[in-house]
Amino acid sequence: MNTNPCYNIATNISNRSIKLKARYKYRIYPNHVQITKLNQLFGCCRYVWNQSLAHCNQLYINGIIKPSYTDLTKQFITQAKRELLWLKEVASTPLQQSLKDLDQAYKNFFNSCKGKRKGLKVKPPKFKSRKSKQTARFVGANYQINQDKIYLPKVGKIKIFWSRPLASKPTSLTIIRDSANRYFASFVIETNPESLPKADNSIGIDLGISTFATLSNGEKILAPKPLKKNLKKLVKFQRRFAKSLPGSKRREKRRMKIARLHAKIQDIRTDFLHKLSTNLVRKYDTIVLEDLNVSGMVRNHKLAKAISDLGWRQFRTLTEAKCEKYGREFRVINKWEPTSQKCSCCGFRGGKKELNVREWTCLNCGAKHDRDVNAAINILEVVQPKTKVDVIKTEALETPVQLSLFVSVAPPQEAVVAGGQPETLNKTRSRRNSTRKKVVDGNESSTRPESIQLRLF
Ligand SMILES: [Zn+2]
Repeated sequence: MNTNPCYNIATNISNRSIKLKARYKYRIYPNHVQITKLNQLFGCCRYVWNQSLAHCNQLYINGIIKPSYTDLTKQFITQAKRELLWLKEVASTPLQQSLKDLDQAYKNFFNSCKGKRKGLKVKPPKFKSRKSKQTARFVGANYQINQDKIYLPKVGKIKIFWSRPLASKPTSLTIIRDSANRYFASFVIETNPESLPKADNSIGIDLGISTFATLSNGEKILAPKPLKKNLKKLVKFQRRFAKSLPGSKRREKRRMKIARLHAKIQDIRTDFLHKLSTNLVRKYDTIVLEDLNVSGMVRNHKLAKAISDLGWRQFRTLTEAKCEKYGREFRVINKWEPTSQKCSCCGFRGGKKELNVREWTCLNCGAKHDRDVNAAINILEVVQPKTKVDVIKTEALETPVQLSLFVSVAPPQEAVVAGGQPETLNKTRSRRNSTRKKVVDGNESSTRPESIQLRLF
C-alpha cells in the first residue's frame, strides 16, 4: 500500500453492489456464574490455540510443513476431547474458530513472506496469554439474540445493553474480555454501502502535534490528549503497583486500577476520533491525508508519548472506513511531498523549516502563511491541482506588460534571425511558452528576471 505515491482506496465506489462488513460492539454484563463459565471458555480456546501452535512450531523445527485446519481440528479438538473432559464442558464452535484464526494467521504470515500480501510485514502467530485480552467467537445458529439478553450455548442468557440498533442479522458474535475486566459482545454484520448527498467540496488535512488537525479551509481542531491529562495519576498507580508483592491480591487490585485508567484514556481518544471522522465524511466528498511515518516518528523518544496520545493512525483507519461506507473518496499522498516547504499561493519552495516555525512569509510572492494551513492546502492540491491552474491564470493576467513584450517585440527580432521560416518561428514560440510556464510555476525565484532578459536580447 505504501509503494504508490498517491493511491485511491475507494476505487470500488462505482460498484455499489459490494457488501461491506461492519462491527457493532455492545457492553454485556454477565453474572458471577456466567463469568466463571466464560473464563472457562476463554481458557479452552487459548489451550487449543497454544497446543496447536506449539505442535506446528515443533513440526517446523523437524522440517515438516504445517498441517491443515482439518488435521489440527481432528487432533486438538476431536481427539483431545476424549482425554480432556473439561474441553467438553464448553461450546465447540469457539474452539473451531480459534483454530480457524490460527490457520488464517499462518496464511497471512506466509503470504507476507512471499510478497503476496501488501503492507507491513506480518509476524508469525504468537502464543496467547492468560493476562491479555480474551476472545471467543460464535458463528451460525449457535447463539440467540433477545430483547435485552443474548443466549450463548453452555453459558446462558447474558444481559446486554443495546446502545444502538443492530443494522441487520449478524454473521458472527465475538465475546471479548478486556484487561480492565469489561465484557463486550461484538457482532459482524454485512451492510450495503450508503450514499450521502454530494457536498461538492474537498478537504486537505494536515495532522500535527500541537493542533491535531488543520483543514485546508483554515479550521483548526484540537485533540483531547487524555494521556497527558491522566499521566500523573497513571504514574502514581504504576508506582504503587510496582511496590506490591507479586501474586498478592493487592497487586491484582492495583493492576486493575491501571487497566481501568488505560481503558478510560482509550475510550476518550476513540470517542473524539469517531466524532471527528464522521463529521468530516458528512461534510466533504474527498478527504486527503498525508501518509505519515508514525512508527518512525514514535522512535523519537521526546515525541513518542505525545504522538501516541493523538491516535493519528486510528484517525486514518476510521476515516478510510467511513469514506468507503458512505461512498466518499479517500486519498493519501506520499510522505515525501514537500507540503510544508511550498508556498500554497505561488508554488515557491522556501526550503525546509524547523518544527518551531509556525508562521512564515513567502520570499517570492510575500504571502503570509500559517504553517499548518499552508501544508493542508498543499496536501489538497497534490490530489486536486485545479486550484493551482487558477493561480497560474490570475498571475499571468497580473503581468500583462511582460506578455505584450513577448508577443509584439520578440517575433520580428527572431524572424530576422531565423530568416522568416515559419517552422522555426513556431518552435521558438512553443519553447518560449514552456519557459513562461516555468516562470509562473516559480520553483526558483531567480528564473524570472533571467528569462526575460534572454528573450529580449
Ligand atoms: Zn508565494
